[in-house]
Amino acid sequence: MIATRDRPPGTGLDRPDPWVWPRAAYVHIPFCAHKCGYCDFASLAGSDHLADRYLDALAREMDFLGEPQPVETIFIGGGTPTRLGARQLARLLAEVRRRFPLEPGGEWTVEANPGTLDAEKADVLAEGGVNRVSLGAQSFQPELLRALERNHAPEEVPRAIDLVRPRFPSWSFDLIFGVPGSTPALWADDLETALQLGPSHLSCYGLVYEKGTALWKQEREGLVRPVEEEAERAMYEHTIDRLTAEGLAMYEISNFARPGHESRHNLVYWANDAYFGVGLGAARYLRGVRSSNTRDLPAYLRRIEEGREATGPTETLDPEARARETAVLMLRRTRIGLDRPDFTLRTGFEFDAIAAEALPRHVRGGLLEDDGRRVRFTRDGLFLADTVLADLL
Ligand code: SF4
Repeated sequence: MIATRDRPPGTGLDRPDPWVWPRAAYVHIPFCAHKCGYCDFASLAGSDHLADRYLDALAREMDFLGEPQPVETIFIGGGTPTRLGARQLARLLAEVRRRFPLEPGGEWTVEANPGTLDAEKADVLAEGGVNRVSLGAQSFQPELLRALERNHAPEEVPRAIDLVRPRFPSWSFDLIFGVPGSTPALWADDLETALQLGPSHLSCYGLVYEKGTALWKQEREGLVRPVEEEAERAMYEHTIDRLTAEGLAMYEISNFARPGHESRHNLVYWANDAYFGVGLGAARYLRGVRSSNTRDLPAYLRRIEEGREATGPTETLDPEARARETAVLMLRRTRIGLDRPDFTLRTGFEFDAIAAEALPRHVRGGLLEDDGRRVRFTRDGLFLADTVLADLL
């Protein structure tokens, strides 16, 4: 093991071990105006009348943690947190601040849907300590938003950004490529529209047909035709080139940021560090145990109101499985990659022993690059990342 004084610089390891002591908190708000066709999140429409009761339960669940837990990052995601009213949002922020006091210089992100943000809510968020907003734009093409069954209109995005820009130092868009009906030209157009709005961060995900979603069923029934693999590759390739040229450096397989605007909260996940998670379906990773709450809202409310935890699936990884998982997550960080001393410090394993023959094979094949200390994806490797990572697992 590596002594504290030898800890690699820039890896956030000057504090007590962050893979044991959580320094991040995730809070889930499940309410949405409508269920989008591709959505596999713990989200539901038509349950807004339960929002106050849900906030009571959330406060109670945070109380189960005992003493306030200072953290460096907070992420309120959903669902659609901005589906809550301004009064409810103010209450939520106050409850979260009390249980998860944010360290000075900390990052506090809230996800927002362009159609549900207004000036009053934006003021509540900014005054409540939120300093980063992540907007679910997904596309600026009306027909692609329809294919995704999103219920906001493209023109609502610039309107939301007019609210976000003066109030928050960092803000991000989520965009999705490979939507049925999309082409490389339409995707290039989406990227240009996004860039003109001047985000400090962009997340660009390839569409996934998650089992059980409406879109997955439509695909199985032949009602929608997925975009050809080659076209999807062209879209991803263009994303990397265009965003990099605009100063939004790629730092994770699907994430791009101007310097200093990387999502510190998501970097916690990609280092396989510990984090708290509260709310419907929320995942947490504490002392080597990964668990998530039930995704059944009535069950969540009932259990918390009865003073019981709402934990559902729980998984305790053995040290080697945890090390493999850590390797896979770290390699997603395309710029930092996997730093061997950092990996060993966090897992107790040598990466070369874990990666056995997969590492030299993928280095020989030109998919990974290895400078003796760090291992990273090459540009070619990015297009086959899922295969390489599956190999390492
Ligand atoms: S807004 Fe987001 S969380 Fe809500 S249904 Fe759509 S994709 Fe899911």
